[in-house]
Amino acid sequence: MRIVVASGKGGTGKTTVATSLALIAAEQESVRFMDCDVEAPNAGLFLNPVLDTRKDVGVLIPKVDEAICTYCGKCAEVCQFHAIAVIGKKTLVFPELCHGCGSCTLVCPENAISEHLDVMGVLESGRGAQGIDFSQGVMNVGEPMAVPIIRELKKWEVANLPFIEIRDAPPGASCPVVETIRGADFALLVTEPTPFGLHDLKQVAEITHELGLPTGVVVNRDGIGDNAVQAYCDENDIPILMRIPMERRIAEAIASGTPLLEAAPEYRPYFQSMLEIIVAAVGA
Ligand code: SF4
Ligand code: SF4
Repeated sequence: MRIVVASGKGGTGKTTVATSLALIAAEQESVRFMDCDVEAPNAGLFLNPVLDTRKDVGVLIPKVDEAICTYCGKCAEVCQFHAIAVIGKKTLVFPELCHGCGSCTLVCPENAISEHLDVMGVLESGRGAQGIDFSQGVMNVGEPMAVPIIRELKKWEVANLPFIEIRDAPPGASCPVVETIRGADFALLVTEPTPFGLHDLKQVAEITHELGLPTGVVVNRDGIGDNAVQAYCDENDIPILMRIPMERRIAEAIASGTPLLEAAPEYRPYFQSMLEIIVAAVGA
């Protein structure tokens, strides 16, 4: 079962909720936790994994052997991303536009194209708190595309298939979030009851709706804003599964890397019952 925790907006407490859910789930089941926020992964601060496995990750960029190339232009025709072009007696590759799909290599009639890995980041994995199988992607600074790293992270082999996989999505509602959500069984959207929170919640909820994914909401910092999130969820039949009030001691604990369940153990039953609701919704 794959649960994605997303928020649209950064700083809503998404990672706090995702890691707490993982810790509760790991008390009963095998759990894999994936930090897909590859530009700024920080779930490891709460789950303390010992990262002992690493793998370079990137895009396979074509390299043209000009001695064999006949400048037929077939590679440029097939490339949807305009990442390869034939200009006179020159075949040029633009690595920053290339998505590594391999189509140009396949269509080249002269076998003039080979591929080399353009390293964009690294995948890391190891065992975290309560035996959680933890993995994360870390994108190199200045890289333009997070999606290939997230895609590879999702495919990365795990020794034993977990009963529950929890994916911590990047902030926003663009391609990296869609890639993280794709293939999940349930989306848990973390928001705050403010106009900004509602705006970003709507964007991610539209994605999960488009993908036909069962969705629930966690309202963090409950009490600071208005009832617009509640009204939106009511209108769209999205259940609010938990509310976490704005409390200084929780904010301070999280800022110091203490998991929510450790700082406020009274939330354990709420996470437990939320997990049961999610499992039942996926089963249904
Ligand atoms: S398809 Fe092959 S032969 Fe044709 S232009 Fe591209 S690299 Fe050269
Ligand atoms: S690998 Fe795909 S995206 Fe890259 S140049 Fe070839 S066809 Fe274009």
